Amino acid sequence: LGPTVTIGEILVEIVARETGTGFREPIDLIGPFPSGAPAIFIYQCARMGGAAAMVGVVGNDDFGFVNLERLKRDGVDISAIAVSPDHPTGSAFVRYREDGSRDFVYNIAKSAAARLEWTPRVEALIARCGHIHVMGTVFASPAAWAITERAIPLIKARGGTMSLDPNLRKELLVHGQTEEKFASLVDKADLLLPSGNELFLAAGMDGEERAIEALFKRGVKEIAIKRGEHGASARQRTGARADCAGLIVEETDPTGAGDCFGGAYVACRRLGMTLQTALEFANAAGARNVTRLGPMEGAGTRAELEDFMARTARRS
Ligand code: ADP
Repeated sequence: LGPTVTIGEILVEIVARETGTGFREPIDLIGPFPSGAPAIFIYQCARMGGAAAMVGVVGNDDFGFVNLERLKRDGVDISAIAVSPDHPTGSAFVRYREDGSRDFVYNIAKSAAARLEWTPRVEALIARCGHIHVMGTVFASPAAWAITERAIPLIKARGGTMSLDPNLRKELLVHGQTEEKFASLVDKADLLLPSGNELFLAAGMDGEERAIEALFKRGVKEIAIKRGEHGASARQRTGARADCAGLIVEETDPTGAGDCFGGAYVACRRLGMTLQTALEFANAAGARNVTRLGPMEGAGTRAELEDFMARTARRS
């Protein structure tokens, strides 16, 4: 039915090598790494072997080209990624604190990523996509939201499907009406990929079983629940279920785990793999990605993930 598409920000990330607080002292930095939650998702989707495309904007600069070249090299259709002549590619500086939380400096609001618009290239791409993956980062970008709202019914009208990764990160929720927008997306989603308390936020109630049932009643067909180091579970409205223990890894950089999990899961399911096989690959994709510094540097190919699973122990 056509590739999986995602819409949103593309940026570079520059990461502090040492943990600590803020950026006011001289510190060792490493990067620029290609980044942006939708870019990480679609990159992992393509690396897993799924047909993948992205709608986005980069600046006419090295930070833009490092992203374009990476996505293209690994098979992402970049025909609907525009190059803005007068807005730079966004950047994020990240420093992990001792306790695992992060300090950020975001240069995104005035960047090329905010210049997303519906162009003939976007129209042409959406007309041939079979699945749209929506990420909560659209709540922080009126431009991304507008394109997403327009694309969903077009893709659904041709028999396509939609997945939603709530990705409700506090630092991105700067615009109003997020709750209504989020609820409207949940109602349209075929597949939901929540982590943390997002399952409960989506359902509007606590209790995993209750929340899952409520979401199935609202039209969701499948839910893949991310549980960080504890692995993941998948449920289908038909009653099918799969569970996967966490792989034991050394966490070097947690950024991008959920995005890689989603990219692999959506790719595998669209390639026709079973719930259990898709979950195993997604679980491995998330775990492998946290072992490498840089938000998408650990995204594995199918062969790399098979190898990674074969030599990594699981939690009991
Ligand atoms: P998000 O980034 O969306 O909050 P998680 O942190 O739950 O998502 O990570 C997504 C998935 O990646 C997890 O469900 C798990 O499969 C894998 N994962 C993430 N962190 C780890 C870890 N420290 N050890 C093993 N697997 C991990």
